Amino acid sequence: MYPLIVLKPKKEFSVQRFHPWVFSGAIDLIDDQIKDGDFVQLVDAKHNFLGYGVFQERGSISVRLMSFDKNTVPDADFIQQRLFIAFALREQLGLISENNTICRLVHGEGDGLPGLIIDFYHHHFVIQAHSTYAYQHLEAIASAIHTHFGKGVKSIYSKSEETMHSAEAVDEFIFGSDPSCIALENGIKYNIDWITGQKTGFFIDQRENRSLLRSMSEGKRVLNTFSYSGGFSLSASYGGASEVVSLDSSQKALDLAEENYAINQVGGKHKCINADALDYVKSSEANGYDIVVLDPPAFAKHQKARHNAIQAYKRLNVNALKGIKHNGYLMTFSCSQVIDKYLFQNTITAAAIEAKRNVKILTQMHQPACHPINIFHPEGEYLKGLLLHVS
Ligand code: SAH
Repeated sequence: MYPLIVLKPKKEFSVQRFHPWVFSGAIDLIDDQIKDGDFVQLVDAKHNFLGYGVFQERGSISVRLMSFDKNTVPDADFIQQRLFIAFALREQLGLISENNTICRLVHGEGDGLPGLIIDFYHHHFVIQAHSTYAYQHLEAIASAIHTHFGKGVKSIYSKSEETMHSAEAVDEFIFGSDPSCIALENGIKYNIDWITGQKTGFFIDQRENRSLLRSMSEGKRVLNTFSYSGGFSLSASYGGASEVVSLDSSQKALDLAEENYAINQVGGKHKCINADALDYVKSSEANGYDIVVLDPPAFAKHQKARHNAIQAYKRLNVNALKGIKHNGYLMTFSCSQVIDKYLFQNTITAAAIEAKRNVKILTQMHQPACHPINIFHPEGEYLKGLLLHVS
């Protein structure tokens, strides 16, 4: 059986409510044989069984639990079974179709596989391990992909170097070698570059929100800030926007957006601006748009950064709100996990007060079904957004 980790007295309550994280401060004893990435058995101070999980040396979360049942013991086979369940869920929900060949197949804790991300781009699979056990099981993961998708697998790439913070982790093809991939989201073509692009190459979590923007863009002038490869921009153009501006501080991101415009046949004007969005929205150049999209990177990566992040979200939104045309719209997001939807909405309320605009919430936006949230792990809910009418 797996080596033991013993909790301090009274530290078992969250685990009894099926929360999958055990922080280092809650642990009393760790078996000396335990190595980074090992499967472990968690017990309370009186040695009652609590669950099985994986041990991680780095960071404050020492154990990520995978099973709360004494008879369900995690191993490579168990990981593969969880993968099959995750793949089947996407299929059951029809998330992959003729017009949508971009989908997250595994979303960490949301799919019972903490620290593991697998993204699907038109027969190409990109794995991102954030946990040692996931990195150690790459072969079993690739084998499950082959078993389930058969001939539909063109390549499998592991992009784990940055997320593993380990000298051992390498970014490489585990299967195939062809990095060229054009995939579809809502029928729009995107050139996906997972090797040099940000994250696994595309921000898959905005599919539904891009669709919403598309449905309201007819004849509108749209400013898409933090545009990356132009997902919101192309959606607005396809929705009939008269003019779209993609703004990003990375030239590489803007080049990707230009490439994506080049492979799509879509009307309306499009231009790229390389600038800092926080400065740009303050300037008069940002005034008079019908729709502004704000989709910044996570301003707060951890609790300590929360206060400053809230101030940054507020400033950004105050300036954007001030400049929007009468009867215009703001689509504003936060993907910081430590800022929940209530705090985000309060921050935007404070921004509206300061901007002295009349603001109505039309829609509260969130992450899509391919980024499921384990109900016992509310931290998994990270993306929130508001569609606002501004007069
Ligand atoms: N909206 C995008 C995803 C945004 S990711 C999509 O739909 O795909 C965040 C983007 O913000 C990245 O492309 C990054 O280069 C850019 N970025 C980060 N800081 C920035 C800043 N201060 N000003 C402008 N862009 C910034």
